[in-house]
Amino acid sequence: MDLARAGVRPLTAPRADLHLHSTASDGTLPPEAVVARSAAAGLAVIALTDHDTLAGLAAAVAAGERLGVRVVGGCEFSVSAPWGEMHLLGYFLPAADAALDGLLRRQRADRERRAGEMAERLRRHGLPVSDDAVRRVAGGGALGRPHLARVLLETGVVATVDEAFERWLRRGRPGFVPKVLPTLAEVAEVVHAAGGIVSAAHLKERGTRGALEQFLPLGLDAVEVRHPSHSPELEARLLGHARALGLVPSGGSDWHGEIADGTHGALGSSAVPLDWLDALEARRPA
Ligand code: AMP
Ligand code: FE
Ligand code: FE
Ligand code: ZN
Repeated sequence: MDLARAGVRPLTAPRADLHLHSTASDGTLPPEAVVARSAAAGLAVIALTDHDTLAGLAAAVAAGERLGVRVVGGCEFSVSAPWGEMHLLGYFLPAADAALDGLLRRQRADRERRAGEMAERLRRHGLPVSDDAVRRVAGGGALGRPHLARVLLETGVVATVDEAFERWLRRGRPGFVPKVLPTLAEVAEVVHAAGGIVSAAHLKERGTRGALEQFLPLGLDAVEVRHPSHSPELEARLLGHARALGLVPSGGSDWHGEIADGTHGALGSSAVPLDWLDALEARRPA
């Protein structure tokens, strides 16, 4: 039955959560489970945006077809920024593109190098962090600091993931090693050539009009205005900048699965209306 024609309207308009992680990177649930949880949360569309990999996409798309959730191919890139590092969300990415795959492979290799160096630093501080434990916790996913945090948690060095970051893993703490970062322009060029767009993720207070003006000629298409770390005031401010500069607004929860930490939202908590998704899609290169 066509519910709309029958005069039945859903209680809430369909929504899209455009920032989600799975075990393909530092999330705790496999891609299929992320999609199942999204369906249960009533989301019409999600973007799987694992760090530096598209490895979860095929399984997520297949699950989405079974469960009636549209899955947009996405990825979260770490790039250099005037203040150090920022994150870019790529959207409408194909599962296979030679240049994109090459870039992602390089970044994942750098994550392996860096995870090894971080574990080594933690060991020098007397902490029981073996390379094997990091690999086991990551389960083949693109390696990141959350995996090191979980090893510290399971060995009892810390009581929470937040404590692991605060004491050991944050920039400036003993375990921190930086990633080698591509530039925004480099990533935007590769993503555009693959038919996708790039959005600046969770800029928080860095999302000034001046910063966005600087990013625009480098290829930025969109801004994640809605994110669990953004207050309603900040969201309104970012939305104003986006509208003024012709950047498309976006949003998502940055959900990493069942993991207790203070930086990520509940699934669907920062979801956006589907006409925001349409505007993102209209921004794709011809
Ligand atoms: P990496 O890309 O390896 O530097 O790790 C960054 C990731 O760590 C982010 O994408 C978050 O998933 C996670 N993260 C950063 N800070 C925290 C925190 N304080 N608590 C929990 N997770 C965090
Ligand atoms: Fe993450
Ligand atoms: Fe991020
Ligand atoms: Zn993220």
